[in-house]
Amino acid sequence: MADIWSEALHGLEPRLDRQTFDMWLRPIRLASVDGDLLQLRAPNRFLKEWFETHYLDLALDELESRHERKFKVAIEVVEEPPPAPERAAPELARPHLEVVVDHPATRPTGSPPRPGGPPRGLHPRYRFDSFIKGGCNELAASAAMAAADEPGTRFNPLFIYGGVGLGKTHLLHGVGYELYRKDPNLRIVYLSAEQFMNEFVTAVRNNEFDQFRARYRRDCDCLLIDDIQFISGRDRTMDEFFHVFNALYEAGKQIVVTADRVPADMAGMEERLTSRLNWGLVADVQPPDLETRIAIIQTKAARDDLELSPQVALSIAELVRSNVRELEGALLRVTAFAQLRGVEIDAEFVRSVLGKTVTDKPPITIEAVQKAVAAYFSVKISELKGKRRHRGISRPRMIAMYLCRQLTGSSFPEIGMRFGGKDHSTVINACKRIEALAQADEDLHAAVESLRGQLGLLS
Ligand code: ADP
Ligand code: MG
Repeated sequence: MADIWSEALHGLEPRLDRQTFDMWLRPIRLASVDGDLLQLRAPNRFLKEWFETHYLDLALDELESRHERKFKVAIEVVEEPPPAPERAAPELARPHLEVVVDHPATRPTGSPPRPGGPPRGLHPRYRFDSFIKGGCNELAASAAMAAADEPGTRFNPLFIYGGVGLGKTHLLHGVGYELYRKDPNLRIVYLSAEQFMNEFVTAVRNNEFDQFRARYRRDCDCLLIDDIQFISGRDRTMDEFFHVFNALYEAGKQIVVTADRVPADMAGMEERLTSRLNWGLVADVQPPDLETRIAIIQTKAARDDLELSPQVALSIAELVRSNVRELEGALLRVTAFAQLRGVEIDAEFVRSVLGKTVTDKPPITIEAVQKAVAAYFSVKISELKGKRRHRGISRPRMIAMYLCRQLTGSSFPEIGMRFGGKDHSTVINACKRIEALAQADEDLHAAVESLRGQLGLLS
């Protein structure tokens, strides 16, 4: 027979979406009942706290309305062993593209030691203690902290996604730092997906695949990869990352990945990879709300020994909304101007400085570039994406590719894909051609600059 708690949960189930229910409520179990007090069990501290702050009231209401009396609950943490990752097994057995013979004798001896220093690439500014939590990033921040607390257990992999300047990289470094603080001998590997690709390509080219493989698959206790979207469309790198992922996951090592969008929306990312990235927790970071923006400004100002009145913090926070990086830039500009002019900072001053320069702009998209270039040269967007090599079309196409690379930060393969599925080498060649041509050809140079200006204003 179902217990009083399971019945209440059952009653709540239809009111929540399934993922939420499975993630946060289902794991909470009843241990015992003593009058009005329900003793519950959560499998870890993070889950307990998240449940308490987000779903406990709902559960208590449900209990009260079912039994027409009030209940209290106490939750204890009872650790369970992490789930066995048997899902990875079948594909692991597949033969790998490169034939790599693993000679233990010739392996380099472990990852480079870190004599007293933090892991390569981590920036001490980006620690958890300087990260401001708000509704906009709460799940991502809490999960990052939980992953650093209990690496390789609940939130593995942890996938953090969101727009630029919203703190993804900061959280990723935070995980690395926290793990390092707790255990300086832990082998933490942090790098951008772009670096991963470059190292992979170099390793293949120089016949150093053994070292590469040892570094990422064997001598690594925690892998932190930034901006994974970069490798979409790069088949060999994706394939390699897939094997790295499996090896580490199998071994119960923590993996944290960031991206600018959810796994399913990454065009050109293999299905088997996106499905793995979905195995753990997928958490977003959103643009900060006003309250969080104020808190961030105040914290940054305090860190830099700047005195800011609440009104000033508020006026900056009101003017700059899009992301935290812009917010930091705005604070810097305001204080630099104030020092330069030797004046006190007040709300009026903030407006005079930021009023003109607020760069609260959405990022430039590939579509926007294609549209502007098509209009400028009077060609159709479908022609830009097409295959015709007539110069009247191939020139604008190359310019559009070049501008996409320069202004949108998209990878070569992604640009290729968005121009009718062209190979990334076509995009690379186009960028090189335009760069060379712009040196010699005045008109072309002028056209590129005019378009760049237009797009800059547009965004
Ligand atoms: P992303 O990787 O999402 O593009 P970053 O992590 O590089 O963004 O963040 C941009 C800047 O904003 C960094 O200097 C970071 O420290 C700061 N930042 C972002 N979010 C927060 C936050 N919640 N609290 C404090 N600083 C933040
Ligand atoms: Mg980043």
